[in-house]
Amino acid sequence: MALLNTFSKKLIAWHGVDGRQGLPWQNNRDPYAVWVSEIMLQQTQVATVLERYPRFMRRFPTVKKLAAADIDEVLAEWAGLGYYSRARNLHVCAKQIMEQFSGKFPSAPALLEQLKGIGRSTAGAIAAFAFHERAPILDANVKRILARLFCIDGALQDKAVNDQLWNLASSLLPAKPEEMPIYTQALMDFGATWCTSRKPVCLSGERKCPFAKECQANLSNQVLLLPQKTIKAKSPEFDCDMLLLRHGNHVLLQKRPSKAIWGGLWSLPESAWVAKLKATARDDMLNLKDLLRLSLPHEKASALLKLCKPVERGELIKHVFTHRRLWMQIWHVQASKACAFAGEDLKWVPLAKLGQYGLPQPIKLILQGLSLARGDDLKN
Ligand code: SF4
Repeated sequence: MALLNTFSKKLIAWHGVDGRQGLPWQNNRDPYAVWVSEIMLQQTQVATVLERYPRFMRRFPTVKKLAAADIDEVLAEWAGLGYYSRARNLHVCAKQIMEQFSGKFPSAPALLEQLKGIGRSTAGAIAAFAFHERAPILDANVKRILARLFCIDGALQDKAVNDQLWNLASSLLPAKPEEMPIYTQALMDFGATWCTSRKPVCLSGERKCPFAKECQANLSNQVLLLPQKTIKAKSPEFDCDMLLLRHGNHVLLQKRPSKAIWGGLWSLPESAWVAKLKATARDDMLNLKDLLRLSLPHEKASALLKLCKPVERGELIKHVFTHRRLWMQIWHVQASKACAFAGEDLKWVPLAKLGQYGLPQPIKLILQGLSLARGDDLKN
């Protein structure tokens, strides 16, 4: 098929006119910088990465600095970007690079792929951008482009379909290794801006797709049917109670288990999540004893019970994750004294120092409200 021979040339020419230029992570052969940008760009909008990437690179300018940092510092810097396993994996991977590769990223995709948090497509992107390796990428955007160009029907999660797409992605690579960075960037940009999921340019009529005459989906009127959509089940909903326990200008924070949602971040002590039964807001009122026992270990709840004033119902906050929704009922409690807690995972934190802690975004907003009322700054 002619397209196999001409695709990379046409795509690179397209990028010269209509691709994205001047992004801070472009034209950079430092594998550390490429790796951080690739991980941050997964599941995060470019506009957000444009703001957060330079900040992350200022705070952790080298893989050595990132490996030596405390995980709390890394999570605090990542706060608000979501998908916190990415930050935890970055930290583990930085240590692997230091320990197993003496601080130097390997150039072979097969070795990169063995590192924590680096999948085959990300390994391909790092190898292509930083080392000019002829390695393909195959993220969701590229899958969509290829499924349309070559009319690949079948569910993307099927192994046979996936293998077919990887083979195509390899066959389309430019022959010259030095063209790999621009080609890989062009492929990403084309999927993100022209061959988009809902409004590909060939259907808008405003701009002319360079592949319009060869694209099998376009020629057979199947553009919006490809790739085959996966039917998503309705997201389950959960309720939980959260304890906003304050003493003077301190608030009690609890470190979340590393394997949970918001793993490793600091949050408000909370009860177990239970499946939401009713669509309406809850009207029950918790008493202090029940609330403390639901959200804290037994001995800590008992110690606090004597020091706390009655509970006040606070905000009901809905947070939407990719696969579930959580309704958080906040309960305000004042302690007359900060009782000491043994252990690393429960701390009284001054409002003025909240910026040093990685907090889930909705919790950060609640605490920011308190903090601003006191004139403290949580913007970090
Ligand atoms: S013709 Fe349409 S579907 Fe085909 S590659 Fe171009 S934008 Fe994508």
